[in-house]
Amino acid sequence: MARRKQIYEGKAKILFEGPEPGTLIQYFKDDATAFNNQKHEVLEGKGVLNNRISEYIFQGIERIGIPTHFIRRLNMREQVVRQVEIIPLEVVVRNVAAGTMVKRLGLKEGDALPRPVVEFYLKDDKLGDPLVTEDHITAFAWANPQEMDDIVSMTLRINDFLSGLFAAVGIRLVDFKLEFGRQYEGDLMRIILADEISPDSCRLWDMETNYILDKDRFRKDLGGLTDAYREVATRLGILKENEKLDTKGPVLVSSNEEK
Ligand code: UDP
Repeated sequence: MARRKQIYEGKAKILFEGPEPGTLIQYFKDDATAFNNQKHEVLEGKGVLNNRISEYIFQGIERIGIPTHFIRRLNMREQVVRQVEIIPLEVVVRNVAAGTMVKRLGLKEGDALPRPVVEFYLKDDKLGDPLVTEDHITAFAWANPQEMDDIVSMTLRINDFLSGLFAAVGIRLVDFKLEFGRQYEGDLMRIILADEISPDSCRLWDMETNYILDKDRFRKDLGGLTDAYREVATRLGILKENEKLDTKGPVLVSSNEEK
């Protein structure tokens, strides 16, 4: 059995060398972090739920014709994805005022925005992921204007698609974060959706009660995070009512585990 090579370890995921050229394995950890890593906890079962939820959402996005890095789920905690060169931006879409936007602009949490607002943050932990403008992005060549056009149009289509998907199961999509990458195929390059979409990267509120179904349960010490993620998965029809999920899945023994 071959030893698997670790390519990268992030806060909530690990990337390993993939089974085919140009692929990687994305492993979902149970770790939760917030406030630029100052708060950290292991929440058993989170990785397994995010793997399933992200798979379901990426398959839906592929079906509406937006290219993504998702290829197939391997097991409870892992999926095979296309290798991309990550564009160093967090693309945030907001439909409802919440989080840092409320503080920055003095808005009332929960107010619907006049239209979806797209924001860009530079992925740089040392700088605390600062808000940047398209002018910063193109001036410093983090992405070119053509790439930004593709990113914004895909982002708005994904927002419409996800808003409808969640509304159909009684969930308000308040805001969420996307990451994109460049995929090279010979001389050709295209921008595709990468990373994950899960309750770790979205704000999801129950439409009737405003009950929080996302990572704010951890950020705000509300408890019940995995139950909330399981509720999202159940409503989307990913898990059956009362389905017991083996949330342990394959356990990562060490970062270069034997396979
Ligand atoms: N978000 C994320 N990763 C980050 C920062 C934000 O997934 O590093 C998501 C967050 O979960 C929320 C949205 O992006 O759904 C907007 O986040 P905001 O800028 O309000 O920051 P926060 O207050 O969540 O730190």
